[in-house]
This record gives sequence, structure tokens and C-alpha cells, in this order.
Amino acid sequence: MVAEQTRTKIVCTVGPASKSKETLTGMAEAGMDVARINLSHENHSSARKTLDLIRSVDETIAVLFDLQGPKIRIGEMKEPVELEAGQVFTLSIADFVGDKERVSISHKELPQDVKAGDTIAINDGIVRLEVVEVQDEDIITKVTNGGPISSRKGVNIPGIRLSCHLPTEKDLKDLDLAAELEPDLIALSFVIDGEDVRRVNAIIESNGPKNADVICKIEHLLAIRNYDEILRESHGVMVARGDLGIEVPIETVPVLQRELIRKANVWARPSIVATHMLESMTHERIPTRAEVSDVAHAVFDRADAVMLSAETAMGHNPIEAVAMMERIVRNAEKKITPVNPMDLTSPEKLIVEVIGNLVYNAVSVLPDKVDGIITATRSGFTARWISKFRPPTHIYAVTRDATVMRRLRLLWGVHPIRYERTVDDVDDLVKESIRAVYAKGHLGDDKDIVFTSGIRHIPGRTNIIGIFHVRDFIDSA
Ligand code: PGA
Ligand code: MN
Repeated sequence: MVAEQTRTKIVCTVGPASKSKETLTGMAEAGMDVARINLSHENHSSARKTLDLIRSVDETIAVLFDLQGPKIRIGEMKEPVELEAGQVFTLSIADFVGDKERVSISHKELPQDVKAGDTIAINDGIVRLEVVEVQDEDIITKVTNGGPISSRKGVNIPGIRLSCHLPTEKDLKDLDLAAELEPDLIALSFVIDGEDVRRVNAIIESNGPKNADVICKIEHLLAIRNYDEILRESHGVMVARGDLGIEVPIETVPVLQRELIRKANVWARPSIVATHMLESMTHERIPTRAEVSDVAHAVFDRADAVMLSAETAMGHNPIEAVAMMERIVRNAEKKITPVNPMDLTSPEKLIVEVIGNLVYNAVSVLPDKVDGIITATRSGFTARWISKFRPPTHIYAVTRDATVMRRLRLLWGVHPIRYERTVDDVDDLVKESIRAVYAKGHLGDDKDIVFTSGIRHIPGRTNIIGIFHVRDFIDSA
């Protein structure tokens, strides 16, 4: 039997600290499921090299392209300055080198987008300004929270709908690159409503990458308000706590996290918890107690995946950070509380959800007999609706498609397994699926498995469930 894998998945940002074969191999062995390429920091030639490197290390790892979206930054500054509460500070769309009095800003429509009384946050929300008045190119503000600012720091305008929206010109170029390089997942930053996602979905549908899953980053106040319509349009979500913690009072983030994950879970959309999970490991070998607890609580919240950012992109010891995260997850998973499946019923009312519910019941009633769930899936869709119930046994998703296999790496509890043979009927499909999983060393001969698939094997038409004894299919091999 092979070693038990954890059910909660690990997403790792690849950056300068991890762009080598040795480091990526170590990270893959330590438990990385998804590698994130952050297009806010990579140009096209480096993104291409990074993707090639990841694929050359392990082609079963899913690659996620994270698009920058409408992120605003201040311009260049002569030197870092300390803004003081009460002082006047001007943001301007003119081009100049900034100082303690004024700085330029990347979003040229900002003077039209804000009005007196609005809040503008700079540098991770540390510095806060209140708009006093707008004069043509200039936004005159009063500093309400003082602090340091320096060149190109990020700007957030909590709750405001900006005139620049998704996809930005840069995002469109990055989507062209995605069409060529075919990452498995595409994350969208600063999604505000379902319309944002629909626009990007339409581009992906016509240009490619074929079948890429779209993950919406929830990091804007309006995304929280429009969460249902965003969920409907997307394949998954990221609780992007970095920007979210600036948009909303930081003390509300843990409660929002739990609620965002719960709803994503109801809709069978995988959720990723991101940012600062093991932040201190960027410099230290051991995380803080609070960080260890944070990762564990993401697991208790039933997230599909936890993410590392600077820890693996720029940290001193990326492999150790992944290994630590894996150990925390492994321990936390011993204490996941089951949820009544009826409390998770989605508003979509799909047959596949009934199947997921029945599968959950079968493995819960027969915990000692059943050694796993096998779902034969062409698109990965069925696996999502089984995973959402968090069944207490592994979910083996057998598929013939290598790209589907990679996308399945994000789903809680799902082991993607490839089978090569073409099958003619359901009998054949059951047999080939069980053999493919057995061949990987996962199943006990004397156990049962719960099998599910579509009777005609059409994506989204999962409609059969059966319980089979493993040995009946192995002895005749
Ligand atoms: P970012 O997204 O790292 O691209 O900003 C994550 C976050 O905001 O938490
Ligand atoms: Mn962000």
C-alpha cells in the first residue's frame, strides 16, 4: 500500500527562490499539488521558462496563472517617506517623481472614480488617506493613518467600483500567453461581479486555453456582495486575504474566510486560502504558533487548498515551508468535523449532487468495508460534486486526459489516476477503472469500492452508482 496522502491540497507560488529543478523537485516531493505563476511579477519570457521548468520536473502538477487584474500602484518616489497623520497629500495622474507632498498614480481615471470622503489605502493598508477634493488631475487628501510609503507600493480603494475593470490590457496580453502555454488554472484578481468573470470566460472559450479552470480571487468588498453570481460563473475561488484584509476591517477576515469557504463548498467550487499562511518562514525555519494554527483552521474550515506565497517564491527555505505545511495539514485532518450533507445542498439542484450525496452515505455507513471511491470522469465535473461532501475515504478520479488530471489536483481528497484503455460499455469502464487504481497500489483486494460514472460517459451526466468488490475484478486480470 502507498503512503496516505493528505486530502487538503497545497498551492505554491514559484519565484526566484524556487526556480530550479532541485528546489521544485523537493517541493513536489514535499506535497506541492499546484504551482502558481504570479503574472504581476513575471514577464512573458520568464513565465514561459517557469512553466517549462515546472512541467519538466513533474508534469502531473497543475500550473496556475495568476493574472494581475486592475491593481493600482503609486509611481516612482525619490526616496521612501513617512506620511504623518493630519498632513495633506496629493495623488496625481501627471507623470513625476514623488515626494512627501505628492505622488503619481497608475490608474489614470482615478480622479473620476473617487469623491470627497472616500478612503484610499497605500502600502498594505498601513497608510490611509481621506479624499478632500478632486481638482482635474489631482486628488487632494488628508492623511488619516500615517506611515511609510515608497516606489510602486500598492493602492486599494475599499468598496469603490473603478472604471478600469477585468480583464485589463495587461490581462488580455497574459490571456494570449495562457492560450499559447495552456496553464491548467487561471486566477482572476479583483473580481467584482459575475460580469467580470463572464467576460474572461468568453475570451478563454474562444481563444483558449481549452478547458482551463477559472479561479476568482475574492479580495474586494463588492466581490463579497456579489459572491453568489461570481460562484455561479467560476470553477473555484481564492480567499485572497492580502488585499481582502485592506478592503474590509482585518478583524473580520477569519469570519469571512469561513463563510466564503462554506458557500464555495455548497456550490462544489474548490476554495484556496491564501496569503501569510506561514509568512515568517520566508526568513525563519520555524513558523509562529499563530501561523501553524492558521493553516490548521483553514483545514477545519474545509478549504480545498492552502497556499504559500513569499514563503516559496522568495523565502530562504521553500522546501521546508512546503514540508511544514504538509505536516500541519496532516495533523489537522484528523479532526475535521463531518457536516450533514443535506446542509450542503446547492441551489443548482443537479443529479450529480444526488450521486455525490449517495456516495458520501455509502462510505459513511460502511467505513470498514469500503476502501475508496472511484469516479470515472471525463471533465472532472463529477469529482467536484463528490469531493464537496468531504467523504471519509480517498476519491480516485480516473480519466484518460492528462490536463483533466492536473486540474483535479486542486480538489480536496481527489487522487487523479490515468487509464489508457478505451472502453465500450459500463462493465468495461468499471473493470478498467478498478484495475487502474489497483495497479497504483491503492486498494486492498478484500475491500469494496464505491463506483460512479455516467452511463454513457458524457461530461456532466453522472447518473450511476455501484458498489463493487475489488477482488472480483483483479483475479480475472
Ligand atoms: P496577490 O493575491 O498576492 O496577487 O495580491 C493574494 C492576496 O491578495 O491575498
Ligand atoms: Mn491580491
